[in-house]
Amino acid sequence: MEHVDVVVIGAGVVGLAIAARLSKHLSNVLVIDKNAGFGEEISSRNSEVIHAGIYYPKGSLKAELCVAGKQALYEYCQQRHIPYNNIGKLIVAQNAEEETYLQEMIEKAAANGVDDLGWVSAKKMRAMEPNLSASAALLSPSTGIVDVHSYMRSLLAEIEQNNGKFVARTELERVECSDSGFVVTLNCEDEQLKISSKYVINSAGLYCEQVAKRIEGLSEQFIPTVHWCRGHYFTYAGKSPFQQLIYPVPEKNGVGLGIHCTLDLGGQLKFGPDTQYIDVLEYAVSLGLRDTFIQAIKRYFPNVDAEKLQPAYSGIRPKLQAPGAAAEDFCVQGQDVHGVQGLVNLYGIESPGLTSSLAIAQRVVQQLGIEVSV
Ligand SMILES: Cc1cc2nc3c(=O)[nH]c(=O)nc-3n(C[C@H](O)[C@H](O)[C@H](O)COP(=O)(O)OP(=O)(O)OC[C@H]3O[C@@H](n4cnc5c(N)ncnc54)[C@H](O)[C@@H]3O)c2cc1C
Repeated sequence: MEHVDVVVIGAGVVGLAIAARLSKHLSNVLVIDKNAGFGEEISSRNSEVIHAGIYYPKGSLKAELCVAGKQALYEYCQQRHIPYNNIGKLIVAQNAEEETYLQEMIEKAAANGVDDLGWVSAKKMRAMEPNLSASAALLSPSTGIVDVHSYMRSLLAEIEQNNGKFVARTELERVECSDSGFVVTLNCEDEQLKISSKYVINSAGLYCEQVAKRIEGLSEQFIPTVHWCRGHYFTYAGKSPFQQLIYPVPEKNGVGLGIHCTLDLGGQLKFGPDTQYIDVLEYAVSLGLRDTFIQAIKRYFPNVDAEKLQPAYSGIRPKLQAPGAAAEDFCVQGQDVHGVQGLVNLYGIESPGLTSSLAIAQRVVQQLGIEVSV
């Protein structure tokens, strides 16, 4: 039986970041993905925003890993010439209640170590964004955008430079615990293959719960239920009316950040994502959602032209937060919780998972006890 040091299940941005990091310490890293290429699921269906780390409760993993991950990602992009733009974002209020929320956000952000949020005067706001309508706005200068595909390609190149391997069209079928680690059964285009591995990382995104259930010896009590929550995007044709990212105050239920406006590196403006819990994985974007989008967008962009809004794409979040329940944190679960040495399961890696990816990788390395800190 072939032996590897680690099998990373899932070649999304998080699995690739973990594998790249592990490949610096281990000589034989294997990343698998059931799809024909890397990053075809959540990682290619998101907003591509480098988040500042301002929304998440103090002490949460989301806060810690987003703030550390943001810094690490900007440095990584600079070092490896990955297209990015530290474009900044305005978070806008429409009334006194929302302004109070923004004031609280300054304090929440500061508690997370983000102390660069600042009020923008009405005059400056008009000069910066003449098409924007708001009673007040906060500027988050450390928010940015990144070309996720280039980032993932770079992580993969790093893995391969360190003698690691990525194998596509290979599905994890089963993991059995053995004395020396794990026996991993893979299905490579209908052929079964068994390999042994010292470590196993479950970074299967939308399928993290299903993959965990294929790990023999992992008690079901440690496997949380994952809920799928789709977010739709509409592109806005023509020249962008905004120069930077525009966000309303987040949804009260903590499910999403509100239908916001982001730009990609080519200057294409898009609105979204909204939030819709679903039972079946399906990515279609219905034109019927346009009216709801227009109502949300009109609050901060009254001159929105409905004809310019076109259905674009959707992405699906793997949420630990059940419909109607309180917001949940990321879950990066190691031996200290589930008792299986050499195994780390990642659950609920929704936003800000892209921003946090390098910090999540660092956390996984620590959980495996491969190094203490960097
Ligand atoms: C609508 C939306 C907007 C977002 N916007 C942002 C944002 O602006 N900024 C930000 O920081 N984050 C954002 N996120 C979050 C971010 O995109 C995710 O946290 C991140 O992409 C998750 O990466 P991943 O590697 O965990 O998952 P994925 O990219 O889904 O990768 C998991 C991989 O596992 C593979 N897999 C699953 N099961 C198996 C199996 N049995 N065998 C083999 N392979 C398997 C899948 O094929 C998949 O490729 C957003 C997410 C969504 C949905």
